[in-house]
Order: sequence, then C-alpha cells, then structure tokens
Amino acid sequence: MRWDGQKLGDDGTALPGLALAGLVRSVRTPEFAGVTFHEVTCKSALNKVPDASAMPFRWTVNPTRGCLHACTYCFARPTHEYLDLDAGRDFETQIVVKTNVVDVLRAELARPSWRGEHVALGTNTDPYQRVEGRYRFMPGIIEALVHAGTPLSILTKGTLLRRDLALLAEASTHVPVGIGISLAIADETLQQAVEPGTPTPRARLELIRAVREAGLPCGVMVAPVLPWLTDGRAHLDDLLAKLADAGATGVTVLPLHLRGAVKPLFLAWLREHAPALAHRYEALYGRGAYVPHEYSRWLDQRVRPLLVRHGFEGRDRRAFRRQGEGSYPGGSIVADAALPAHEPTIAAAQPVLF
Ligand code: SF4
Repeated sequence: MRWDGQKLGDDGTALPGLALAGLVRSVRTPEFAGVTFHEVTCKSALNKVPDASAMPFRWTVNPTRGCLHACTYCFARPTHEYLDLDAGRDFETQIVVKTNVVDVLRAELARPSWRGEHVALGTNTDPYQRVEGRYRFMPGIIEALVHAGTPLSILTKGTLLRRDLALLAEASTHVPVGIGISLAIADETLQQAVEPGTPTPRARLELIRAVREAGLPCGVMVAPVLPWLTDGRAHLDDLLAKLADAGATGVTVLPLHLRGAVKPLFLAWLREHAPALAHRYEALYGRGAYVPHEYSRWLDQRVRPLLVRHGFEGRDRRAFRRQGEGSYPGGSIVADAALPAHEPTIAAAQPVLF
C-alpha cells in the first residue's frame, strides 16, 4: 500500500510525499483515537454524476472521503481503493479531508456556466460524521450554494446536523432544501454491531424531530433493509411507527446490496455476528450484488401496508411520503440510486421468508 512508508512527525504532522493528489499533511489527534486525517487541497469540489446514472441529481459535493460511521454495508467503501487504501479498516480510519473545498466550490459556482442545478451532499460519505465537528465545512458549503441560488439536499446519519439547522432553515427561504436521515435499524444492539460509529436510533429519531421543529421536511432512508435481520414485520412496523411519530415526511425503503469489496466484508461480519445467516446470504447474493427480484417483490408486499398504516403514501415502488407534506428537490433523496438497471432473478436461492 502506498501509505506504508508514511510516518507522522513528532508534532503530529506527516512528512509530505504520500501518493495522494494535493496532500498537505497527515495528522492525528487525541479526540479521534486510531484515526489519521489526510488533509489535501482539491482542484474541484463539484462532482458530476455520470449521465447514465439513475440518481435523481446530477451534482454532488463530498468534503471528505472515508467515514467514521463505519457502516459494515457501506456502498462507498470501494471508493477508498482508488486511493490505494483498503475498503475495510482504512475506510473507517484513514479520512481524506479537502481543506479548501469551500473556496473551490465558491469559485466553481461563480462560473457563468453554472446553471444552479440541484447539488446533493451525503451521497458518498456522510457530511455530518464527527470529522465535520473538527473542520466545519458544511456552513460554508451551504452558504455558497445558497449564494449561487442552488437547491441542495443532505443525507446523513450524523446528529451534528443539529448545529446547522437554523442555517438550513434560513437557506430554505431562498432555495429548495431537502433533508434526509438514514435510519433502517430500530434495535440498538444490532445497530451498534452493524453501524458502530453512528448515533443510536433514538438519537436519530430525535434528530428527525429537530429537523421538523426547524420547519424543514425530513425524509428517511430505511436502507438498507437487511434480510432476516431487519425485514421482520414486527421490526418494520415498530420502526415505521417511530418514524411517523418523529414527524418523518417521507420514507424510502431499499434492501441491502453488496457491491465489490463490500460483499466479502459483510459476509465476514455475518460469520462473526450471525453465523447462522451466512449461508443464507451467500445463497441470496450468490449471483451478484443485489437481492433477487423475488425478494424485492416480497419486501415490497410486506412494507406497503405498513407504510399505509403509518400514514405514508406510495408514489412509486419504494418511495413514500405523508399526505400533504413537502418532498425533496429531484425526488426522494437517493431513492433509486442504489438500484441496478436490472434486478437479477434467481430461482435456486429463493429466500426462506418469515
Ligand atoms: S454513514 Fe453513510 S457513508 Fe458513512 S459509513 Fe455509513 S453508509 Fe457509509
């Protein structure tokens, strides 16, 4: 790995020379034990989503790479491999920080060619992970987008979002602002095992409440739903009741997908934490990264009446919102972004369902 020869200096800074574009220094700090921040200067802040993508937005901003939330299933993990870091522990502990992201973004938004299209934050790593407390990028990013008349949406699990709610509420008087909270596991023990760096379900429910009290709509990504772990009727019913009670204005429900390096990582986690399920998952995801069509259809049939019971009305197969509530610019935040163009079908690995 290209980082191997790197040493932090006596003052906590690293010697320059890492094979990472724009690297300024690598630092550690006692508040983040075991974590190294690689501070870089970036040349661009706005990332264009490929035209072929199914995502309901064309532009993203990611001030960091890697995520302290450390979700076992995180689909962004393989992006760390582009940096010659691994998708496992490195993704959770080697955090690349774009220190000039706000200045670069301002310059890009000021170009005559910028058309003020919707910009999504939180599509690759979480913009309100604890790193944001140290670097404080988001207020500058929000202000820059608003100044440029650019609608924005934020998807996060981080309760640090509370810090910026007043700013976001003010921003929403100038441009459309969408807020999404990701919460798919109601059971705290399971959540701590699967997403060890994230705020508890209770804290995230309180965050949803706070977003609503700030006068903003708040969609919830009930994703990923984990087969045999969180797809039971009682779990989903309990979670959706809590989301409705907290004031969620919409929900999007998606099953787990396991692309690239995430698949062996998640299967290894299962062997340790739920060994009885490892073979079932191997069968369910045996031919690819996505659940078979049969499972998607089964999950849809299970979830739909529960959503209706809790006041969420279906717009398409997987995105629901409450009657009379606002939604997001560009549709539900990441909604179908995770969907493959074609869901594979298998007969042999038909899941044993509840
Ligand atoms: S919070 Fe999002 S980006 Fe961070 S590890 Fe979890 S899934 Fe990945």
